[in-house]
Amino acid sequence: MSNRVVQGRMVTPAKLAELVEGEPVLETEDIADADRDCPDCGGDVISVGYMPSVTEFVTGYKCQECDWADDDR
Ligand SMILES: [Zn+2]
Repeated sequence: MSNRVVQGRMVTPAKLAELVEGEPVLETEDIADADRDCPDCGGDVISVGYMPSVTEFVTGYKCQECDWADDDR
């Protein structure tokens, strides 16, 4: 899977990682379904693995319905 709808907009893995990170990232994996619900609204949460820098790999989480986002740092 690649593109998903987040808050009514189609996003690519790179755009999703940017939403979580707050700035563009270097590399991304495909978007996946996270096995959790949003703590704010109960909506579906999706995840994306990405590299914010050459030495770091992070899994980011983003609600598809609201502004909630988190990562595994
Ligand atoms: Zn939410």
